Amino acid sequence: MRIVLLGAPGSGKGTQARKLMADKNIPQVSTGDMLRAAAAAGTRFGVQAKPLIDAGNLVPDDVVLGIISERLGEPDAQEGFILDGFPRTTRQALDLEELLDQMGTPLDTAVLLDVDFEILMKRLTGRRTCSMTGKLLNVYFSSREELGECTGAGGELVQRVDDNEETISNRLAVYRENTEPLIEFYRQREKLITINAEGSVAEVYESLIAALS
Ligand code: AMP
Repeated sequence: MRIVLLGAPGSGKGTQARKLMADKNIPQVSTGDMLRAAAAAGTRFGVQAKPLIDAGNLVPDDVVLGIISERLGEPDAQEGFILDGFPRTTRQALDLEELLDQMGTPLDTAVLLDVDFEILMKRLTGRRTCSMTGKLLNVYFSSREELGECTGAGGELVQRVDDNEETISNRLAVYRENTEPLIEFYRQREKLITINAEGSVAEVYESLIAALS
């Protein structure tokens, strides 16, 4: 199964990709996670990418494409992959198409996680990660018990640097301008499936599995 998860920041791509990875035993390939790891490790690309990530701007296509082509060549990606946060521009989508054609393994599906703007804002501004377990939580949507489990055990609810309101607005604008055209791109190639991604994690996952079967 080779799929792209499309959707605005906060639409739940990472959460759904991780569930799918655990179920189907194929890797989640998140360019955002890889770029953050590179920035934290202080590699040359990471140092270049960090200010762009922090401001919610896109990292140059050639940097991201280099990372992706290397990652998709690794053994664990040969049986399939879930692309999360890539492609984000038409250039990236065209280059991905070419890369997969060369590998003889074309993309199966692009799934659009469709979420209303108001909900996206709450998901993004409320998003936190537990510093102890790494669990993704949300101050608006997680239960008091779930939040308490983290803080009660001495953990902190950490906010991503790019989850502040100013950067979020920019990320959503960047999405509209650069990434939204990919919906039409994949529709024209008859690879697009749209699912309503406004429900709970479990409900959205159910729709995702139904869409992929
Ligand atoms: P994400 O975790 O997917 O929300 O990505 C976080 C940030 O990483 C984005 O705001 C961009 O700065 C950068 N990034 C992630 N994926 C890409 C991509 N495919 N192209 C360009 N920049 C990216």
